[in-house]
Amino acid sequence: MHIPDNWLLPQDAALLDIEDPDQLRIHSIESFGTHDGPGIRLVIFAQGCQFRCLYCANPDTWDVKGGHYKSINELVEMAVHQKPYFGTKGGVTVSGGEPTLQRTKLLQLFKQLHYYGINTALDSNGRLLNDEVKALLDETDYLLLDVKHFNDEWHHKLTGLSNSSVFKVAEYRESTGKPMWLRYVLVPGYSDQEEYLHQLGQHFANYKSIEKIEIQPYHLLGVHKWEALAMTYQLDNVQPPSKDCLAKVANIFSQYFKTVKVN
Ligand code: SF4
Repeated sequence: MHIPDNWLLPQDAALLDIEDPDQLRIHSIESFGTHDGPGIRLVIFAQGCQFRCLYCANPDTWDVKGGHYKSINELVEMAVHQKPYFGTKGGVTVSGGEPTLQRTKLLQLFKQLHYYGINTALDSNGRLLNDEVKALLDETDYLLLDVKHFNDEWHHKLTGLSNSSVFKVAEYRESTGKPMWLRYVLVPGYSDQEEYLHQLGQHFANYKSIEKIEIQPYHLLGVHKWEALAMTYQLDNVQPPSKDCLAKVANIFSQYFKTVKVN
């Protein structure tokens, strides 16, 4: 895959977290989101990601030096302003990109949101677990954990990196007893192998913190962004999963999870 030369390598991405502590580097913001956590939410898409998912719909979030700054105070003000629309379940979700690259800033954001009684959710690919991420997870009401593949070799193929930390993040979340949703992108020919779906289910079957698993059907909506970035989209021959494929995977997951949702 061609990655523009001015982009930082993954190991340099931790730099993001030591920039100006009061400014979050973000890609975009969505108001009244209903797909990323419970209820109606303000969704903040953080800039920067270490994964290189073949199907990524937002490759413009990868560059840890891209995006633009928004101060934490501004984001809190925006959330407080929208709070009447959140109802009893809604709140703020930070997605990405990968938000934990800016973990200490997000901890401050989430603490302030909690001060104003606003629910917090974090949508993470689980790439990182250290004391700072644990502190952020402890301040997170809902963790939406993306499990890209159960098999490490396939995970590598799909994302460029290992899945080992994803399971450590899940294990830590389980130890805290706080709620978690799993998210699984279903890509025909890449993440629909029955044996690995069963293995994933078996691995998590006894987790009490998992409220549901969401199946996210692969789509081609982000392909134009790859073209705009002069990158080769490798899955251009892959079509979204059929109804039968979705039903098959939902049926397998329903053997292990109390709630299975197709997004
Ligand atoms: S983790 Fe998300 S943002 Fe990062 S490459 Fe994968 S799909 Fe894209």
